[in-house]
Amino acid sequence: MATNRTFTMIKPDAVENGHTGAILEKINAAGFRIVAMKKTQMTKRDAETFYGVHSERPFFGELVEFMTRGPIIAAILEKDNAVEDFRTLIGATNPAEAAEGTIRQLYATSIGENAVHGSDSDENAAIEGAFHFSGREMF
Ligand code: GDP
Ligand code: MG
Repeated sequence: MATNRTFTMIKPDAVENGHTGAILEKINAAGFRIVAMKKTQMTKRDAETFYGVHSERPFFGELVEFMTRGPIIAAILEKDNAVEDFRTLIGATNPAEAAEGTIRQLYATSIGENAVHGSDSDENAAIEGAFHFSGREMF
């Protein structure tokens, strides 16, 4: 059910820096069930579409460049109150402002290269999950 799911990506910086296992461990420990998961690399067009809402922002080009420079781990996660609880687990967009023990505080390097994505609403969680996965890849 969409209301209990969120979508995440472990971003290229965290994959490059070898944090995939530690981040998945924290996600698991926080009680999220993996509905779907894969390692993939976004094309420029994928990133421009996925982050389309930010197309007028000054950092858009940098964001697309970053998100396409290497592989990511994409996943759909399930838990009660998934969207909000996952945003709490990852912390603020800027790691300098992220709460102690959050994934971004621990593993992000900057406001741009901030280790993980988390959907911001149930509606976007469904859209973003469907962007990366077909129904046959969700369990
Ligand atoms: P999120 O929902 O916490 O991921 O943050 P936003 O939706 O506001 O922004 C989407 C993504 O764009 C962030 O996770 C960052 O990777 C990137 N981003 C946001 N603000 C900035 C910025 O000021 N500079 C750069 N380079 N990237 C940013
Ligand atoms: Mg966002």
